[in-house]
Amino acid sequence: MISPGSFAQPMRVDRAAHRRASVDLDQALAVVVADGRVLADASGVTLLGADAWDQAHVVCYLGRDGDRDVVAVSAAALPESDPPLEPLRALLGRLGADDRGERDRELATTAVAMSHWHQAHARCPRCGAPTEAAPGGWQRRCPACERDHYPRTDPAVIVAITDPDDRLLMAHASYWSPRRYSHLAGYLEPGESLEQAVHREVAEESSLKLTNLTYAGSQPWPFPASMMVGYTARATDPAFTLDLDEISDARWVTRVDLEEAVADGSIIVAPRGSIARRMLEDWHGDAARLGSLQGD
Ligand SMILES: [Zn+2]
Repeated sequence: MISPGSFAQPMRVDRAAHRRASVDLDQALAVVVADGRVLADASGVTLLGADAWDQAHVVCYLGRDGDRDVVAVSAAALPESDPPLEPLRALLGRLGADDRGERDRELATTAVAMSHWHQAHARCPRCGAPTEAAPGGWQRRCPACERDHYPRTDPAVIVAITDPDDRLLMAHASYWSPRRYSHLAGYLEPGESLEQAVHREVAEESSLKLTNLTYAGSQPWPFPASMMVGYTARATDPAFTLDLDEISDARWVTRVDLEEAVADGSIIVAPRGSIARRMLEDWHGDAARLGSLQGD
């Protein structure tokens, strides 16, 4: 089963959707976001008081953090032209599992996802006219054809596959940086269920046939608009044939094999903060040891 914690509990930040259109910006705090990056410092996401940003650049209302409203604003809302923002992937990898970390993970992930969506939907997909953000930022309206548009996410599946000896499949996608290995993954296609997508992707990429497919949790992954849906599965037979255009290498590893490969640098595993890493740690059973071997 998936480890407790991230994304399995109700959100730490109350989205308070009823406040979206009426939030008092003079009293709100802001998360600054631009191009997949967020304003942060060593302690986590930076929340700026209302006197520090221009209200004309609000992206969306994020919700209530305790008794304070929080909004996302674009970097253009700041007086300086090029504020030092941190890439979301790096930020997610260093946020803690405590209450502050959970809050910051939610605020940063939602801010980046919504910022991407607004940028990509400046025009109506139905008629091509420029769209306008509704108050609160969770909807865009097309004044020409009167369509309302809502934020979308693209489901993707990721599956931790073990063989009958409980070895884990570690695969290297052809477009990844060298030595990076992880689980097989792919996008859902129209007309199939998530489980069918897992079976298809794995068959396409590795020829493996799966049994015991089990849901293992999900994670918003706004790069730019994905929802990662995790599964574990058992391969009926460990023999595989790779689609080398997609997967240039794959290997079955025991826990000791993995530790040795991470220690000698021949395998780099997924960063902390990703569902891929969480599923790897769940199989391995000793997250702290894996982290120390990788140096994180
Ligand atoms: Zn339209």
